[in-house]
Amino acid sequence: MQASHRITHILGGGSDGWGVFSKARRMIADGIPVTELTIGEHDIRTAAPILQDMHRAAIEGHTGYAAVPGTASLRDRVAARVTRRTGVPTARENVMITPGGQAGLYATHVACCDVGDTALFIDPYYATYPGTIRGAGAEPLAVAARPEDGFQPRAADIAAVADGATSLLINSPNNPTGVVYTRETLEGIARVCTDHDLWLISDEVYDTQVWAGEHISPRALPGMAERTLVIGSMSKSHAMTGSRCGWVVGPADMIEHLTNLATHTTYGVPGFIQDAAVFALDQGAAFEAEIGEPFRRRRAMAQEILAGQNAVTLVPSDGAMYLMLDVRSTGLSGEDFADALLDAHRIAVMPGESFGKAAAGHLRVAMTVDDTRFAEALRTLCDFAREKAQLA
Ligand code: PMP
Repeated sequence: MQASHRITHILGGGSDGWGVFSKARRMIADGIPVTELTIGEHDIRTAAPILQDMHRAAIEGHTGYAAVPGTASLRDRVAARVTRRTGVPTARENVMITPGGQAGLYATHVACCDVGDTALFIDPYYATYPGTIRGAGAEPLAVAARPEDGFQPRAADIAAVADGATSLLINSPNNPTGVVYTRETLEGIARVCTDHDLWLISDEVYDTQVWAGEHISPRALPGMAERTLVIGSMSKSHAMTGSRCGWVVGPADMIEHLTNLATHTTYGVPGFIQDAAVFALDQGAAFEAEIGEPFRRRRAMAQEILAGQNAVTLVPSDGAMYLMLDVRSTGLSGEDFADALLDAHRIAVMPGESFGKAAAGHLRVAMTVDDTRFAEALRTLCDFAREKAQLA
């Protein structure tokens, strides 16, 4: 029997970019110790009080089908949070709870694009983006952000391919670069969306992890609330990756359509998970700052370590749990560098190429191991780059 073209082509052919990661995992399985700076997951687990609240909610019986668009209390909490953080009046009707941000990315593309429509996204990109767009039946088209612009996308580059496109997906703070889009960048993007009548899908799952500058939600820019769908998540802000709880914020009529889609796909998110999310959100900003603190600290450590050398250049990685390092001085591709670093020093980082062509010659370093190991690995990486740069 033949599987559909849509599902067999989700990966789009070619390498999936996870070669170095898989090799590192094989080495670990063979008992070889590897410092893994690959995956975007905290080195802490979900806090015990959140799990205790989840347990309480389950024992108290919140284990049946929950309302498909989300419980009233969680939708209200998210709406109040978004209103407070962005200044855009947001009500329960503007919020749908999803099984993580990833499900929101898929659902919003289904909601905006018909089959065969062009869906734009920015390169470098979070690895699932093109597959998510293909899975939704649309055609992904990448717009490169440039290293010489600190990976802030240029409005003119987006405008050049916007005619005939239906949507644009952006992500700030960005995975993989850690770049936080400036107001100027976002205003340029908003202009392109209005001029070319594009939906804007704004992935803001790292919105609580900003180390310099400020997070601006493009939904708050003039005229944008009616054409913007924001993706949020408990995964990164509250270290709840495994709980699969996120949301989409947007115009009420789109939330109704998304609810119809959810009725026929996910059928919502477990009630006890949503109750725990309410509990977690009620812990307030200090708790979120605590979750982000290790990344803030390690980024500062990295700035200090990198200041002492010139083989590796740090992209302005001002947010999220990643650093993007420019290793083009070595003459190696990101892939070759990462592979050689793994062989020589048992340190695993992601090649920039795993996240698109625009990040060629770069590495994404996840700041997700303890401070001492992190600093040691980064020093070794810099020494290794220096050796290679001299050979190049
Ligand atoms: N967007 C970005 C940019 C991400 O990095 C991730 C997870 N790594 C997601 C969305 C999805 O996160 P989740 O489904 O856990 O909310």
